[in-house]
Amino acid sequence: MFKINDNYLKLPGSYLFSNIAKKVDAYSKAHPDKEIIRLGIGDVTQPLAPKIIETLHEAVDEMAHAETFHGYAPDLGYAFLRDTIAKNDYKDRGCDISADEIFVSDGAKCDSGNIQEIFSVDNKIAVCDPVYPVYVDTNVMAGRTGTYDPVTETWSDVIYMPCTAENNFIPEFPKEAPDLIYLCIPNNPTGTTITKSQLQEWVDYANRIGAVIIYDAAYEAYISEDDVPHSIYECEGARTCAIELRSFSKNAGFTGTRLGFTVVPKDLKAGDVSLHALWARRHGTKYNGAPYIIQKAGWACYTEEGKAQLKEQVAYYMNNAKTIKEGLKDAGFTVFGGVNAPYIWLKTPDKMTSWEFFDYLLDKANVVGTPGSGFGPSGEGYFRLTAFGSHENTLRAMERIKNL
Ligand code: PLP
Repeated sequence: MFKINDNYLKLPGSYLFSNIAKKVDAYSKAHPDKEIIRLGIGDVTQPLAPKIIETLHEAVDEMAHAETFHGYAPDLGYAFLRDTIAKNDYKDRGCDISADEIFVSDGAKCDSGNIQEIFSVDNKIAVCDPVYPVYVDTNVMAGRTGTYDPVTETWSDVIYMPCTAENNFIPEFPKEAPDLIYLCIPNNPTGTTITKSQLQEWVDYANRIGAVIIYDAAYEAYISEDDVPHSIYECEGARTCAIELRSFSKNAGFTGTRLGFTVVPKDLKAGDVSLHALWARRHGTKYNGAPYIIQKAGWACYTEEGKAQLKEQVAYYMNNAKTIKEGLKDAGFTVFGGVNAPYIWLKTPDKMTSWEFFDYLLDKANVVGTPGSGFGPSGEGYFRLTAFGSHENTLRAMERIKNL
C-alpha cells in the first residue's frame, strides 16, 4: 500500500494568493459594477520587449530545419547563454563566477524550492521574516520545519529573522546558528535592501559558522542605489558559502515564458563533497527545464538592443513605484521600499491587521494588495503594493486611496 509524504499535510490552509483570489472573486460577484484595480500579485504586465520577440521568432524558425534543429539542451544550459550571463552579470561586476558554475533553469521559483533537496533534512533553516513564502513552504514539504503553531503562525524548527521598521528591515544574526540561511535582497515583500558591507558581514558570518546562504536576487535589476550589491559574489569569501538564484521574470517579463538560473560555485563544499556536483544531479538535469527557444530569448536580453529595452521596462515599473510611494505618503501612510524594488511596503493605519486593511482597501477603494502577514509573522500590521500594474491603473489606484 502506498503512503503519502504527510509533510504536505502540515502546510496550513491554502496559499496566500489563492485566498486573495477567492476574496476578490466573492467581492466582484457581490459588486459587479465595481472596477477592481489589482496591485497585489508580483506578476508583470508589460509585453515582452521587441528584441526578445524577434529572437523568439528566429529561434522557432531554426527548429523547423534539420540543420538548425535543437533537441535536449545541455545539462547546465546552452553555453551561449551561460557565457553571456557570466560576463554581464558577474565578470563585469567584478565577481569571480565562471560559465560552468551557472545552471540555467525554468525560473527561480523552482530552484528556490528544489535547492533544499541537496541538504540534509537535519539542517536548520533561517529566513527573513517577512519573505517570499516558497522557502519555508518547500522546507515544510521536506520535513525540515518541525511543528506549526497556528497562534504565532510559526514553525518550531525555523529560525525567523524579523525585518521590521524597528531594525530598518535589516536581518540580524540569529541567536541560534542556522545551517541554511535564506536571504532575499531586494526583499519581497518589503522592497528593502542591505548595503554591500552589511552583506559582507553575512558572508563572514556564514563562513565562520559553516552555513550556506541561499541568496535570492530575483529583483536585482531594480537596484538603483550604488551601495547595494547586485550579487552576493561581490563580497569577499562568498564562493565558499553562497548559492545565488536569479530570474528573468521581473527584469524581462518572463513570468509566463520561464527562465532563470542558479549559481553554485565550485568552492562550495561539505568536506570533500562539492555542492556543484550535487546540484548537477538535480531534477531536470539533461532536459534542464528551459527550452532552446527560451534560452535564446534569454540571450537576447543581454544584446545592446535588449539591454536598452529592458532598462526602459524596469524604469516604467519604477516610475509606478514612485507614484505609489509618493501617493501613499501624501495620503498620510508610512511607506518603505520602492527605491530598489518594485514593491512598496506600508504600515497599516489605525492598528488594522493586514487582512483587515486588505478588506478595507478592496471595499472602499476597490484596490487589491497583499496582506503582510501572508509573508511571515513579522509582516502583520504591514501591507504590500506592487508596481507591476499599468501606469494608468497605478495613478487611478492612488487617486482612490488619496480620497479614502
Ligand atoms: N524569488 C522571489 C523573491 C520572488 O518574489 C519570485 C516571484 O515572485 C520568484 C523568486 C520567482 O521567480 P520565477 O518567476 O523566476 O520563478
